[in-house]
Amino acid sequence: MEANGEKDIEKNYFYITAGSCGPCRFGMYEAEYRKAVKDAGFGNFTIIALQQNDALKRKLDELGFNIDKKYFFRFVKTMLIADIINDVYYKIKPYEVAPRSADRWRDTARMVVANTLRHHTSLPRALKQIKNELSSLELDYLVPKPKVKITGEFFSHIQEGDASYRLPSWLIEEGAEPMIEPISTWLEYLIWVKIQYVKERAFRSRFKVLKTLMFLRYLKAMVHQCYNYYRFLLGNKPDSLASQKRLAVYAAPYYNTKLTGGEGHMEAGKHINTVKHRKAHMVISVKPFGCMPSTQSDGVQTKISNDLKNSLFVSVDTTGDAEVNVKSRVLMKLHEAQKIAADEFENIIKKYRIDGTQIEKLRKLIPKSRSASLRVPKKPVSTAAAVLRRFRHV
Ligand code: SF4
Repeated sequence: MEANGEKDIEKNYFYITAGSCGPCRFGMYEAEYRKAVKDAGFGNFTIIALQQNDALKRKLDELGFNIDKKYFFRFVKTMLIADIINDVYYKIKPYEVAPRSADRWRDTARMVVANTLRHHTSLPRALKQIKNELSSLELDYLVPKPKVKITGEFFSHIQEGDASYRLPSWLIEEGAEPMIEPISTWLEYLIWVKIQYVKERAFRSRFKVLKTLMFLRYLKAMVHQCYNYYRFLLGNKPDSLASQKRLAVYAAPYYNTKLTGGEGHMEAGKHINTVKHRKAHMVISVKPFGCMPSTQSDGVQTKISNDLKNSLFVSVDTTGDAEVNVKSRVLMKLHEAQKIAADEFENIIKKYRIDGTQIEKLRKLIPKSRSASLRVPKKPVSTAAAVLRRFRHV
């Protein structure tokens, strides 16, 4: 920014990152970030590490930033839109025809949203523009690929870089379609936890509790409605958020939902939700070495896998020297998932007596079946089988 002529960087910017909740390497990141910016010549640059129980507004107020409600909601909306763009990116990237066309779309989308927020122009208009760009992108959906849901420790499973061994892009290289979890799910989880906490202490002051509950429910509804509205503007291509109530009900027999820290019971709940509702062929839980909440979760995942019967689940720890090990363990399960996805595709071909010429005709004559903005049906699980079934009459 300085090289581009930006002035007063220390005054006008700050960096927000998540804080640690346990005995892991995460606790050291904040200090490392501080050292990096100080060594780069920005000794007064502000870095804010949010602890799970801290309110963002209070923290920012303490630091003297003028954060009003409007600003706070804009911040939340920015996160929701970033999630939605990422969700679409991982749905289209595995099927792109022109190399890196999905990356160019994502770069443009981020730029459009950033400019919209910077200049206070219309967000719906910006999202419509992004959707139009999406429609012009050509994909080849008819290649069976297994869907792989990435869950685990919060920071690791949203990581696209070295902290998770570039898991999402590596899975794409290995012929899979990764399904990443939006940050918004975690945001909803924090609100859900707070609601449970407040309800259990209702005997203290009923009026105060009622007031707090009303605010939390308003916040929850706002997150949900905004997320769904932005999804709608992108043609409902991104998935909806998982229901917190459902995740808790699924996880409860295995993991105490009152235990917080990290993703709490959500890892167990997401695994069951994915398998029961046939959302993906395989689930990976990724965490940094030493993550206590996620390790506790792994303690019950074997029982969950046994109870679910048809679950392909693999749990991996990231450390500085375990990449080859982790990837070979994932590949073993991925091979099984690939076979299931290929069988699904074959079953559709057999069931509807589709021949090779029909598939080629579909590829060539129905532009809609190759458009990145196509809303792929949820069933069967694999994208290729779902698209083929939808256009089987061609
Ligand atoms: S969830 Fe795990 S890795 Fe993340 S901050 Fe807590 S202990 Fe550390």
